Amino acid sequence: MENKKIPLLQIKNITKVYNIGENKLDILKGINLTVEEGEFVAIMGPSGSGKSTLMHILGLLDRPTDGVYEIYGQNVLKFNDSQTAFLRSKIIGFVFQQYNLLNKMTAADNVALPLVYSGGKNRKERAEKLLGEVDLSNRTEHKPTQLSGGQQQRVAIARALVNDPKIIFADEPTGNLSSKQSNEIMQILTDLNKKGISIILVTHEPDIAKWADRLITIKDGQVIGDTRQKPSKQVKSNPIEIKKVAAHLSFAEFAENFFSAIRAIISNKTRSLLTMLGIIIGVASIISMLALGSGAQKSLEKQITSMGTNLLYLMPGRISLGGVSGSVTRRIYLKDVDALAENTELIKNIDPNVSGSVQVVYGNKNTNTSITGATPAYQYMQNSVPQYGRFFTKTENENLAKVCLVGTTVVKNLFGNENPVGKYIKINRKKFRVIGILPVKGAQGYRDGDDMVIVPLNTAMKRLLGTQYVSSVAVEVQDGKMSETETYLLQTMLERNKLTAEHADAFRIRNMSDMIQMLTSTTQTMTMLLGAVAGISLIVGGIGIMNIMLVSVSERTREIGLRKAIGATGIAILLQFLIESSVLSLLGGISGVTLGVIISLVVSKFAGWAVFVSSFSIILSVGFSAFVGIVFGLWPAKKASELSPIEALRHD
Ligand code: ADP
Ligand code: MG
Repeated sequence: MENKKIPLLQIKNITKVYNIGENKLDILKGINLTVEEGEFVAIMGPSGSGKSTLMHILGLLDRPTDGVYEIYGQNVLKFNDSQTAFLRSKIIGFVFQQYNLLNKMTAADNVALPLVYSGGKNRKERAEKLLGEVDLSNRTEHKPTQLSGGQQQRVAIARALVNDPKIIFADEPTGNLSSKQSNEIMQILTDLNKKGISIILVTHEPDIAKWADRLITIKDGQVIGDTRQKPSKQVKSNPIEIKKVAAHLSFAEFAENFFSAIRAIISNKTRSLLTMLGIIIGVASIISMLALGSGAQKSLEKQITSMGTNLLYLMPGRISLGGVSGSVTRRIYLKDVDALAENTELIKNIDPNVSGSVQVVYGNKNTNTSITGATPAYQYMQNSVPQYGRFFTKTENENLAKVCLVGTTVVKNLFGNENPVGKYIKINRKKFRVIGILPVKGAQGYRDGDDMVIVPLNTAMKRLLGTQYVSSVAVEVQDGKMSETETYLLQTMLERNKLTAEHADAFRIRNMSDMIQMLTSTTQTMTMLLGAVAGISLIVGGIGIMNIMLVSVSERTREIGLRKAIGATGIAILLQFLIESSVLSLLGGISGVTLGVIISLVVSKFAGWAVFVSSFSIILSVGFSAFVGIVFGLWPAKKASELSPIEALRHD
């Protein structure tokens, strides 16, 4: 009797049942087998007897229906995903009849791949050394398709050895090879066995089985023979402690995943581009919409604050009289303005205005424009000191002088390059002398702020518009007297009209922050609406990514199976595909930002609209596209990570 040492592996009563529709197929019918460290075992049996099924269970690529499987005395069928991955990575090397190399990688990268998951160092050197040992040192940079069958199988053996396994499972490793190549492979396996690695080999050729020390025969899912052909090497048992594979993502693994994602994207250029298109359009529209929206808002704010923050506007409102009589408007007359102006403690300056539209003629040119009647205070209160010429005086206003100031748009329309100051124009067929040009205001909301003419208030009321009352009164308030003045204005106007507080609607008072709020709330609503549309296109883009990830997962299911077979955990696979979808959507996001910025610049150049690309909108849209990639990549990635290695490897 031998001394009691722990066997390398032991299976007890292993069964495997496949359910095909209604039928139950008993493929393995209770297999018992013990393999000591250092043994070289050949399993023979007719085709269909269950040899591969048994090997997949032993290699932890598949699970038995029932039974016990112990490695170094530990029940490995109870292990979790991470512990099983450790066994596949560090203890087991699997050699397939079909080689199962990844065609997009070189021989050296294929050999080094298990080291990525086991965290092994010096991957390149180690892969080259092992390729040297299988006599392929001059083929390290070849892709699998550039190698013969025998060479591919030798690469696969080198890959199985890269983590110094305790045991190699080889399922008909010479099945696709010529007899010369077969002998080379068998010689390599024999040499490995001499170094102490246990070998279990499946074959249906007696010539191959002769290489082994022990021959096990299987028929119809049962062991029918177990003979020793020669004594096995005596290897001192040296059990490895079975640990978990590290749960964190190593840098090597991240880099591997990242570059395999880039490789996948590059090898499907058109498809990747079409997939990214949704994200690109979505991000580009978000960026440009927000740029236009915040540009409009910023220019409005600038204009309004440039007018001064201590201005109030008094305007007639409407009071309801109830019933069928509807509502009436209380007018503001010049004598009201004079009365209001008396309170100099509150009021610094006051400027009553009338406005209307007129036809203006110069020579044979004419244009329709808006006219404002104002007092000299207007130029200071509205930042309108003429850039050329002068404003009218108090006396000119009192004398109903026919003088006017013109905005630059009017100048352009009537005078072209001519200097208008000193010239006479006809406003509603009355002759006015141009005395100044108003400073440029630019667009004000949807209105051209330079398409205007200003004349003295009294001239406008009596000579042009024929009105007794003013349309609004601008009031410049003494510092810190804002709310006091608002009350004063309303109170005085109500009193003068013999109205009570319940008719406070008879007059409206607007301050600057009201105006800003009014204007910004319209631009904000607009921006949000456009943003929502852009957001929807991002979601559509995300669905495109999910779709392509599903395709990618299904195309690469065999690759997933192989990666798991050589020691990748489910998490590692999940991360691989998540990284791929994030790279895809991030690339789309970055291209989208670039496109969006270009669109904004082009629009601002040709349409003359103010744009402002905020870092907030860039972070928002890139962040959102990465988020879309992760969310929409998650489901396909999870599907991939949950496949059993052998199911995945059988996929076509
Ligand atoms: P071999 O000894 O030739 O390697 P296998 O282990 O591959 O045999 O297959 C044994 C039997 O199990 C065969 O009859 C095969 O049809 C059946 N079988 C293998 N895989 C499956 C499967 N996934 N589903 C159903 N039957 C299967
Ligand atoms: Mg088989």
